[in-house]
Amino acid sequence: LRPQGSPYLEGLNPEQRRAVETTEGPVLVLAGAGTGKTRVLTTRIAHLVSTGKARPYDILSVTFTNKAAREMKHRIGALIGPAGEGMPWLGTFHSIGTKILRRHAEMVGLKSDFTILGMDDQLRLMKQVIVDQNIDEKRWPARALSSAIDGWKNRGLLPEQVPPGEAGAFAFGKGGALYTAYQARLLTLNAADFGDLLLLCLKLWRENPDVLANYQQRFRYILVDEYQDTNVAQYLWLRLLAQGHRNVACVGDDDQSIYGWRGAEVDNILRFEHDFPGAVVVRLERNYRSTGHILAAASGLIAKNEGRLGKTLRTEDVAGEKVTVSGAWDSEEEARQLGESIESLQAKQHPLSEIAVLVRISAQMREIEDRFVQLGLPYRVIGGPRFYERAEIRDALAYLRVTMNPADDLAFERIFNTPKRGLGDATLQILHGYSRSQRVPLLQAARSLIETDELKPRARSGVRALVESFSRWARMVGTQPHSEVAQTILEESGYTEMWQKDKSADAAGRLENLKEFVRSMEEFPDMAAFLEHVSLVMEASEQEGADRVSLMTLHAAKGLEFDTVFLPGWEDGLFPNQRALDESGRAGLEEERRLAHVGLTRARKRAKLSFAVNRRIHGLWSSTVPSRFIDELPASAVDVVDAPAHFSAGASRFDRNPTPFGSSYATPGWQRAQANTAGNQGFGQSSGQGFGRSSSSGRNNGGPRQIEGELVAKSTGAP
Ligand code: ATP
Ligand code: MG
Repeated sequence: LRPQGSPYLEGLNPEQRRAVETTEGPVLVLAGAGTGKTRVLTTRIAHLVSTGKARPYDILSVTFTNKAAREMKHRIGALIGPAGEGMPWLGTFHSIGTKILRRHAEMVGLKSDFTILGMDDQLRLMKQVIVDQNIDEKRWPARALSSAIDGWKNRGLLPEQVPPGEAGAFAFGKGGALYTAYQARLLTLNAADFGDLLLLCLKLWRENPDVLANYQQRFRYILVDEYQDTNVAQYLWLRLLAQGHRNVACVGDDDQSIYGWRGAEVDNILRFEHDFPGAVVVRLERNYRSTGHILAAASGLIAKNEGRLGKTLRTEDVAGEKVTVSGAWDSEEEARQLGESIESLQAKQHPLSEIAVLVRISAQMREIEDRFVQLGLPYRVIGGPRFYERAEIRDALAYLRVTMNPADDLAFERIFNTPKRGLGDATLQILHGYSRSQRVPLLQAARSLIETDELKPRARSGVRALVESFSRWARMVGTQPHSEVAQTILEESGYTEMWQKDKSADAAGRLENLKEFVRSMEEFPDMAAFLEHVSLVMEASEQEGADRVSLMTLHAAKGLEFDTVFLPGWEDGLFPNQRALDESGRAGLEEERRLAHVGLTRARKRAKLSFAVNRRIHGLWSSTVPSRFIDELPASAVDVVDAPAHFSAGASRFDRNPTPFGSSYATPGWQRAQANTAGNQGFGQSSGQGFGRSSSSGRNNGGPRQIEGELVAKSTGAP
């Protein structure tokens, strides 16, 4: 019997309907991308509210990002009107945890107006604790210890719960004491870090069963999206809350688990059926998002993973356009082709808001953003700042600005004590005072003050070193290539080293961004031209509501969908990332493959992969190999559309012999094609799909990639 007036149920398939209408008891929807999992959740909320089973505030609904929460509120509103928009308990784990914690802050030693520390503050605090504990910060930098503590928090472990052997492996055996001291400092400051937002809820509930019981009663229905990416703390948090009514519905896809590196545990899916016996498990198999070829490509790729729960996906949509693969000579040409493709879609009236560019690492964005700015293509970066607005890039820019313009006080202040050189606020105040009274810029004030005794000896020598460095760097400008000057500045200032010593998860990305920053300068005649370009890019205003291309990392693209998705940089070493390739075992590579799968399944109608044959890695040009993931795509779903300009002359296209690709990775077909071209034989010698690594031809089998790459580089003159 269906409740009357429930148009929202129409159009759902029988399994989706079952997942929506099984309101009582635990439900697990385990299903692939685009099968309507998120839609099931929104419809479920609409159903609960409009049948009167629950009021909006009886429902706890967890999304992965704030953006997803807003989207969901919007969709519920569209289904059942304004009643659906006031969902006080719809948000991310963090936002809901904060809300609960504020109500009971006193019970965990905080006040209700506690502050939530950002990454920077968290580190600053950690440094103080390290000093207090007499730990040598050079051996155990704050970031390393912070990330260890984050790891424990992700696993739901309070200081006293961390296994002593494990804690002892940090900070000369003082890991546990350090964690305890850090938590104590947070309380004194009336502050919590991100990990605390859930961890302290767990503590609150464990110590106050009545408070827990209250929430268990309150949340009659619990819903969780992107369940595959929950970590242990989140799982424990959910499990406690769900023990009340046991009406918990989780939706997820093990093939889209991409946050293992941040503590997410796919095993939570398996644990669910164990912890909630009798759970109704619903599988959705029809994909409503993507056309046939896109789905075939994504399914064929993910089938290469071994650690899977396994499921089928089908579409009733048309086969549509094949997934295209194009190669460019280098990453700059790749960005140019990308711009051209987007412009040609635009000319055919495709809205820009239906186009996304998904990159593996944020450093890839720089060339693409520059291209967009040159073309005047409006874009937005989702889930992070634009390239030139990233903290490390702003720091690097500040160094260059002061070097070029000693009167740039804002820039000077930014890097005055970054990296730490023992110059505190007191010193800065003295500089400011002098600068104001003498009407000179800060750097000049500094230069004058080091000749007096107004600064304490330690501060004076720190300031002197900085002043002298800037003079030296300024002399280098104009006599040495400007990118080398920048490189020297970043090294001599200790800035690069600061990030090299940093053990946190994002440090490697920041170093990559810095390298990309230095390398981008080479495209400009001099430092001044470069800085002017950056100002222009940063000024390119973000008009609200304008029709814009979305640019983001693959990680940020989870749950989203677009008509057209561009996936640049599919090269071994970049994607799959080198760190995953270096790792022993398959776990890293399989997570990369899931990421590729997430990328492909964002596309409704068009997925466009590309790679560059040459990319600068750590400042040096290297010839690259197309991603092994390209070879793993089923040939029948893929169209090779473009060869690098240098190669396309004389050779029509890559070989598109439909023979299934072989199993050997020994010889990349693409490189074999390069070698062939070098020998003037054109394409078409390799077997299998264009870039197949098939071993069946027997040519060059097992030949070292690098040598082949160099051969090509010589014969064609790499840039
Ligand atoms: P992901 O795993 O990527 O998060 P998902 O399983 O959450 O995907 P949704 O985003 O809910 O999938 O749905 C994908 C697309 O399919 C959406 O545009 C949605 O509106 C549409 N869709 C879902 N179910 C149906 C249906 N029964 N009829 C028509 N369209 C549907
Ligand atoms: Mg979804």
